[in-house]
Amino acid sequence: MTRILAITNQKGGVGKTTTSVNLAAGLAQAGRRVLLVDLDPQGNATMGSGIDKRALSVSVYQVLLGLCTAETARQRSDAGGYDVIPANRDLAGAEVELVELEHRETRLKSALVPIIAEYDFILLDCPPSLNMLTVNGLTVADAVMIPMQCEYYALEGLSDLVNTIKKVRQYLNPRLEIEGLLRTMYDPRNTLAQQVSAQLQSHFGDKVYTTVIPRNVRLAEAPSYGMPAVKFDHGCKGSQAYIELADEILSRNSMPAAA
Ligand code: ADP
Ligand code: MG
Repeated sequence: MTRILAITNQKGGVGKTTTSVNLAAGLAQAGRRVLLVDLDPQGNATMGSGIDKRALSVSVYQVLLGLCTAETARQRSDAGGYDVIPANRDLAGAEVELVELEHRETRLKSALVPIIAEYDFILLDCPPSLNMLTVNGLTVADAVMIPMQCEYYALEGLSDLVNTIKKVRQYLNPRLEIEGLLRTMYDPRNTLAQQVSAQLQSHFGDKVYTTVIPRNVRLAEAPSYGMPAVKFDHGCKGSQAYIELADEILSRNSMPAAA
């Protein structure tokens, strides 16, 4: 069975793309077949996987508009060991163009159906907005992974996201669940971070991943080398945390790490 995870938070800069790229590499390293779909016009997941967003002949944009198949648009990330359906700024226009089309919320789903069975995991790196691209992601996903920084306004933003998830569940995708909340850029010495973290756990219980991603400069450096940090510097604390997260996800989904 394929597990499709939408990595979502309408806030920018919380670690969605860093998580998408490094979790993809971590799961691939654990022997899983992984596809990463870049749904952000910024194309950071594409670049961070070592694929040049400026040199794409086709991207997720054409896939969403039905101008090419997912199979044609996908590329191999040699740096990461997984496949990518890349994105670039063309995608910024898709939001407007999609509105005019029929079945606008289910376009990604329809496009992915022919290749879903080829993968153990499909990760969707969503844009920092609850827009039509994110709705397309939530409509095809089995579950949502929410990366967040433990800071003052973090919980406030979560209620908008949870409401969107409820609506998608009601109208488009009744199976959609919250897979988990991931604490990113975490500094255990910061008292506010500890408090927000405790609040998260009391609200969401075991939906909060045990694994915590620390603030680690190597995670921020890796994209400039076109590589997931997990490959660029396997031993650094950030990479180790993402490998631990991959293991946690495998065991949550009853897929032993050493398969
Ligand atoms: P998003 O996709 O949610 O906008 P990114 O993954 O692009 O967030 O992260 C925002 C910025 O923070 C990027 O410059 C990234 O390299 C950096 N970053 C992300 N996670 C960490 C971390 N754990 N430690 C240090 N820097 C990080
Ligand atoms: Mg991003």
